[in-house]
Amino acid sequence: MQKDCLFCQIIRGEKPADFLFKGESLVVFKDIYPEAPVHLLIVPRIHIRSINEVTDKDKEIISQMILKGQETAKEQGIAASGYKLLFNVERGGGQAIFHVHLHLLGGWR
Ligand code: AMP
Ligand code: ZN
Repeated sequence: MQKDCLFCQIIRGEKPADFLFKGESLVVFKDIYPEAPVHLLIVPRIHIRSINEVTDKDKEIISQMILKGQETAKEQGIAASGYKLLFNVERGGGQAIFHVHLHLLGGWR
């Protein structure tokens, strides 16, 4: 946990978020500036700075995040129509919050 990381603060309940799921190892909440009709963030409880920092020991949580994305897409009714699961990596890749998170985007007509 990092003191001044926004997503760590949200996970600790120090900052508000619109949660859809709170699990032992990850949480899902709505993106505050949605870029699609469905725009959710799948966020591990452990603080990992970016995909560049992921190592072999993080295999489990990264696969859990992807499976949670798949499950949440089904729950949101967008699995069949299609969706994006997206990691932005570092500033050049569009990353603004340096706590690994997976974007779930979909629901376009
Ligand atoms: P990224 O650009 O991949 O780092 O994504 C960060 C995402 O977090 C952006 O899509 C933001 O809209 C979103 N975001 C920023 N602040 C908040 C917040 N307080 N609650 C929920 N989502 C947020
Ligand atoms: Zn963090």
